[in-house]
Amino acid sequence: MSNVAKDTKAITTVQCPTCKTKVEWVEKNTHRPFCSKRCQQIDFGDWATESFAIAGEPALDAETLMQGYEEE
Ligand SMILES: [Zn+2]
Repeated sequence: MSNVAKDTKAITTVQCPTCKTKVEWVEKNTHRPFCSKRCQQIDFGDWATESFAIAGEPALDAETLMQGYEEE
């Protein structure tokens, strides 16, 4: 292997399951493997309301989906 890491100081990075942003696996990232609290909540809402999940709409939150559903 010749592609040695240049300036990564042995920090593990993971992909945010929600938005695919690279997340450094470090103490300060309390929401890891998510990049933020928002992405963490989106992911939880996603599996909780699986039947409402809309691909390509990661900004949609579960509460909005639930409200829309109740009105029908
Ligand atoms: Zn994210």
